[in-house]
Amino acid sequence: MLVLVIGGAGYIGSHSARALRRAGHDVIVFDNLSTGYEFLASGFELIQGDILDAPALKRVLSRVDAVMHFAAHAYVGESVVNPKKYFRNNVEGGLSLLNAMVESGVKKIIFSSTCAVYGEPAKVPIDETTPRQPVNPYGVSKLFFEQALASYDRAYGLRFASLRYFNAAGADESGEIGELHEPETHLIPLALSAAAGTGPQLQVFGSDYPTPDGTCIRDYIHVNDLADAHVKALAHLSSGNESFAVNLGTGTGYSVQQVISAVEQATGKTVPRRLAPRRPGDPPALVANPAKAQALIHWKANRGLPEIVATAWKWMQSRSAMRA
Ligand code: UDP
Repeated sequence: MLVLVIGGAGYIGSHSARALRRAGHDVIVFDNLSTGYEFLASGFELIQGDILDAPALKRVLSRVDAVMHFAAHAYVGESVVNPKKYFRNNVEGGLSLLNAMVESGVKKIIFSSTCAVYGEPAKVPIDETTPRQPVNPYGVSKLFFEQALASYDRAYGLRFASLRYFNAAGADESGEIGELHEPETHLIPLALSAAAGTGPQLQVFGSDYPTPDGTCIRDYIHVNDLADAHVKALAHLSSGNESFAVNLGTGTGYSVQQVISAVEQATGKTVPRRLAPRRPGDPPALVANPAKAQALIHWKANRGLPEIVATAWKWMQSRSAMRA
């Protein structure tokens, strides 16, 4: 199959492009390079374009069989202060893509959704029947797109998979591609750069949560496990199955403190840190129930926190070697 990977020069998109190739598919990357990096898409045909540019989209859609859509803004905090940016890209851009797909006759899409569509759920682990009540504009923009997909499915026969990621982390085992955000806000890369002495000391956002050690619990999922889920989701739709939404997580949560310990173990260094106030909007615990993904698309995470931290550390070291 020839798959258009929109946002394929970004973190999860670049890993998924490689997973598609490993599974025998051909890939075209479409990316506006606003937050992506050309070198993350090296080895693939790269079209530099924006999802709001319908003619550019239609030109490439006429060549492909399916779409994977990763191109979204994804900072929760920024979405609160600048919702306009989030609705413009994630909603208007998303609709521009869906309309171009309908006009081009491309009927399969795999969408990067998020556990942020659930907001602050009453119980964990979270399964797919949990009410979707996002609590920030980022989550609202993703929920909107999920609902647009359902409408386009009914009306136009567009088949979709909404993949609700928990905390994507880690890097390709090769050390060639990995997480590269500007600014970086995520726990694992920040803890690693604090340990390496290349970044500031880590702030631990809140130590008075109702969790065993008082710090927040998240379900960290290796980016290559996510990438494999995309390939399986595409295979599932391609066999003529109905559209679906699944959680992608490991089912096991780790606290900020446990992540820090894993980073110290992997690096052999101490993570310089200080306690800081809670970050607004952080729920105490978000952990997936991944049973539906296992039953429906025969996917489950194969890598745990040690592999996540080890590959992220390898990536950080190979980045510094590249820059040196
Ligand atoms: N966190 C932290 N210090 C940081 C960044 C994150 O204590 O500098 C905590 C954050 O409060 C959350 C967890 O680490 O409980 C994961 O945060 P991240 O930003 O990596 O992902 P999110 O869960 O927000 O998608």
